[in-house]
Amino acid sequence: MLLDVKDLNTGYGEVQVIWDVSFNVKEGEIVALLGSNGAGKTTTLKAITGLLPVFSGLVKFRDIDITNMKTYKRVELGLSLVPEGRQIFPRLSVYKNLAAAAYTKRAREKFKDTLELIYNIFPRLKERRNQIAGTLSGGERQMLAIARSLVCRPKLLMMDEPSLGLAPKLVWDILRLVPRLRDEGYTILLVEQNVRQALKIADRGYIIENGRIVKEDTGENLLNDPDIKKAYLGL
Ligand code: ATP
Repeated sequence: MLLDVKDLNTGYGEVQVIWDVSFNVKEGEIVALLGSNGAGKTTTLKAITGLLPVFSGLVKFRDIDITNMKTYKRVELGLSLVPEGRQIFPRLSVYKNLAAAAYTKRAREKFKDTLELIYNIFPRLKERRNQIAGTLSGGERQMLAIARSLVCRPKLLMMDEPSLGLAPKLVWDILRLVPRLRDEGYTILLVEQNVRQALKIADRGYIIENGRIVKEDTGENLLNDPDIKKAYLGL
């Protein structure tokens, strides 16, 4: 098990948002965490990365208890959160955005190799490596955000709504990169509002409602589940 979350309870200050959430991600899997606005997906990811304190429960990564570990140590272990939206440096070139992400020793040592891998996965970024990031299209910026998170050589990529704000025809351009990343050896935890497309690429999925996991199954079974169809697929 690469990531194992057990009975997680967390929230903001006194306000509990996540209730007894348990789920896991095995090495090489694409696992989707799905739910409507405000269900608690981002909050769950924040607790896993240590950006939010855990009230109770256990988070294990690579069999190490990381529940209360400092965020930077979790990153060193290979945990990476691709942030929602597009947190890039708009005045720097694509290349400089990538170079600036190499702030750990390991990232710097491997930067040349990583860059080659990134340009391989995202040929668009290679073409535009000298372009100022602020002038990239929405889809390209999102590619850059994902690429930046690869610079630290993570084992688990947690992607928070990579398709957020993109035109429908671009959504698939981004989501189809997820299996490509898996082929390169990454394990992926994907948070998405595009439930149908996420389930098409996910090995397994968990449905979260009001801060609780209400269903888990294979991507395929969830796609065909009458409740899911009704609630999330508009069928
Ligand atoms: P979305 O898809 O809209 O981002 P989500 O499933 O990621 O939804 P969260 O962002 O995890 O949802 O929010 C879960 C709940 O926690 C919501 O009710 C939200 O209002 C609340 N919440 C989020 N951030 C804070 C905060 N900083 N302080 C207090 N409450 C918060």
